[in-house]
Amino acid sequence: MSNSDKKQVLYCSHCGNTSVQTKLIEQDYLESYYSYSDGKESKEPSCFTVTRCETCSGILVYSKLLPAPEETWSTLFGEIVYPQENGFNMSIPQNIRKVYQEALKVKNASPTAFVILARRVLEEICKDKSIKSNNLSQALEKLSAQGEIPKILSEAISLIRLVGNAGAHSTDIHINLF
Ligand SMILES: [Zn+2]
Repeated sequence: MSNSDKKQVLYCSHCGNTSVQTKLIEQDYLESYYSYSDGKESKEPSCFTVTRCETCSGILVYSKLLPAPEETWSTLFGEIVYPQENGFNMSIPQNIRKVYQEALKVKNASPTAFVILARRVLEEICKDKSIKSNNLSQALEKLSAQGEIPKILSEAISLIRLVGNAGAHSTDIHINLF
């Protein structure tokens, strides 16, 4: 295994960085497939690759069918299996996605920055729904009253707003995600 096969610069959804991942284990296996036409099972040689992100030490798992030309896959290791990508549906407006992805990047490094950005996500959602208000609390109430979000979600969101406020305005409060 050459060094270039062992290390790849890839996106890590644990920490949000695109940095070096080191291949730890590679395991061949037979993946079962079922035909759409007759439901018949077939087995295809496949391969799992486990890597470690050198930035956050998070573990990632990729899978690919063998043998297949490398250009078939989005990475040399195949397609990501774990952790699942953020799973943002493209129907989520770009501004909201952008701020949330920014929040995810700092989640582990700075819980305070994370809650402040989570609060900004709420502001972007209100903006996207054309809700005009001088303060976020009223904007969120309007969002709920318009039926854009269910009541239980609106209560959870209020908590994010309050913790976000505390994170933004007080240096005495220590925010811990766990
Ligand atoms: Zn990472």
